[in-house]
Amino acid sequence: SVDRPRPLVAGNWKMNGLRASAKVLGEIQAGYTAALKSKVDLAICPPATLVGSFAVLSVGSRVAIGGQDCHAKESGAYTGEISAEMLADAGATYVLAGHSERRQYNGEKDADVAAKAAAAQRAGLTAIVCVGETKAEREAGRTLNVVRKQLRGSIPADSTSQNLVVAYEPVWAIGTGLTPTAADVAEVHAAIREELRRLVGKAEQSRVRILYGGSVKPSNAAELMAVDNVDGALVGGASLIAADFLGIAGAY
Ligand code: PGA
Repeated sequence: SVDRPRPLVAGNWKMNGLRASAKVLGEIQAGYTAALKSKVDLAICPPATLVGSFAVLSVGSRVAIGGQDCHAKESGAYTGEISAEMLADAGATYVLAGHSERRQYNGEKDADVAAKAAAAQRAGLTAIVCVGETKAEREAGRTLNVVRKQLRGSIPADSTSQNLVVAYEPVWAIGTGLTPTAADVAEVHAAIREELRRLVGKAEQSRVRILYGGSVKPSNAAELMAVDNVDGALVGGASLIAADFLGIAGAY
């Protein structure tokens, strides 16, 4: 398409990573060559315990650091929670919002996701808002309805291409080795693009990056990343191995 945004490949480390994992970050930084930098943005979302140290290690490398979740409020009596401001203060520039594991295990609803994404944007972070259908929803032919409804409920008003990224992650594809066909990805990403036109405006929507996530590997990245309206990847398991993460980024 005309106005194709600069792709983003983001790694979601989930509940993996200790201080020794700085080695993996170092390998990713070392492999982020000038050629790769000219084509694609990279981000790593480590567990919250590593955000601060990874941000310090990333100064000058252009590998961005993100959180995996944040609270909707700035501060207060919320034991165990981390605010978007805290992530920004620690050096993060991105945060995931509404990952399906948060929706599934922590009961996050669209309205919660929207509040978290808005908090992230107020703190100056780019929110990566995650949507995607379950296996049952796909089999019932409800994929596009589910994804559209999640978008309408989860994307803050007045989002821009600077502070919003959307990630389409079919729940059944996450960590399973299964991926949708290129045609299925194209259909959903086109629907997301269309929905964004209503949500963030016609001019702005073309620059919002829409990532595909769910079992992205070096072996399938080129096919998935070539699909229309796929502006990058959100990578779980493969982002824990520098060579795999760089192999995916290299698909661009
Ligand atoms: P996966 O996870 O790449 O391990 O399937 C993707 C995600 O949950 O973001």
